[in-house]
Amino acid sequence: MSKVWINGKLFDKDDAKISVFDHGLLYGDGIFEGIRIYGGKVFRLREHIDRLYESARHILLEPPLGREQMTQAVLDTVKANAKQDGYIRLIVTRGAGSLGLDPGRCSDPQVIIIVDDISLYPAKYYEDGLEVITSSFIRNHPNALSPRVKSLNYLNNIMAKVEGVRAGCHEALMLNTKGEVAECTGDNIFLVKHGILRTPPISAGILEGITRDAVIALARGDEMVVEEITLTRHDVYAADECFLTGTAAEVIPVVKCDGRPIGSGKPGPLTRQLRERFQQIVRQ
Ligand code: PMP
Repeated sequence: MSKVWINGKLFDKDDAKISVFDHGLLYGDGIFEGIRIYGGKVFRLREHIDRLYESARHILLEPPLGREQMTQAVLDTVKANAKQDGYIRLIVTRGAGSLGLDPGRCSDPQVIIIVDDISLYPAKYYEDGLEVITSSFIRNHPNALSPRVKSLNYLNNIMAKVEGVRAGCHEALMLNTKGEVAECTGDNIFLVKHGILRTPPISAGILEGITRDAVIALARGDEMVVEEITLTRHDVYAADECFLTGTAAEVIPVVKCDGRPIGSGKPGPLTRQLRERFQQIVRQ
């Protein structure tokens, strides 16, 4: 049975429990990271730890562990689960408190580390590409809780995901308050136009994806031109290629948006190249 780490102790999955008064449960008050294990090694752990502590800073949550201890706890949990390939869910909640929003009444932030298998999109979509729709739910305004905070409050994205699923799609595109392309419910988006790779800037109100950063670096290393630039739905409809990036998704082609085929309607050559290059770096 898989082992879950909670505040320094390992529990069998069925015994891993936290308080019903935890504000993570009551209000979505907490933060998390999704991280991959490839060949027994944790991919980009430092980047995930950095993002976790940035999210924590933003919401004035002090994790009970320092970065080094947190890093070690993740590695120890991976080891205890003897996982060669899998997924890590690292969570810090505000902890148990009284009813009422004030986090000042919460005394014990909980650190939870789950190591499990990852269910990616079904394999055929990596070959054939995904279809997406544009959701009517817009991405959170950056002046509300910033989308850069990877918080436990995903309900807005969940609503967009549900809309996509009900339309027969596995992902949904989210626009920002200006109607510009932001990202998908759990993935960043890239377009290819005339050989140039384009992705919305962080200022579009998106999560700064670690896979996004890795793909940008890979593409630049392969001498591709990469632009972080404002994109609209027109750019998506008129793109030559489109793909999504995310820790769980890796690099996955998108071949249709809102019923319109993108480019040839098949995964494009640059998408394939970047997917292969990404596979190489994670297996290194
Ligand atoms: N955007 C959102 C909203 C996400 O939740 C995620 C992570 N699932 C991503 C983008 C991709 O980020 P990363 O590459 O760091 O997993």
